Amino acid sequence: MSDCLFCRIVGGDLPSDKLFEDDLLFAFRDVQPMAPVHILIVPKEHIATLNDTTLDDQPLLGHMLMTARDLAADEGVGESGYRLALNCNQEGGQTVYHLHLHLLAGRQLTHLR
Ligand code: 5GP
Ligand code: ZN
Repeated sequence: MSDCLFCRIVGGDLPSDKLFEDDLLFAFRDVQPMAPVHILIVPKEHIATLNDTTLDDQPLLGHMLMTARDLAADEGVGESGYRLALNCNQEGGQTVYHLHLHLLAGRQLTHLR
């Protein structure tokens, strides 16, 4: 998917502030952070939205959550707290159509906006 922004970041065609990588996932800082800590956790495989996942992706989805938890601990916000957000399709606020989990932390998060 050479026309997909996050595929290009995962593939190294575009630079990113990478924090973590394994066989399945890639994590990097959001270029327009909404909080002092704003990390995106994305599967290396191109999956457009959560709606496009299948039962086969269940371990991947669990791995995304546990990686987010570990990154929160690495960033020193595991105990103070953090928010995970996954936007799906237009009214969910999704703008990049490659599945990703937002990890937000470092300030008091109140309303979902
Ligand atoms: P969405 O709105 O699809 O849930 O989130 C997409 C996120 O990707 C946004 O928070 C946006 O700031 C981030 N983003 C868009 N383009 C880039 C980029 O080129 N590099 C990085 N690191 N983040 C990006
Ligand atoms: Zn992609």
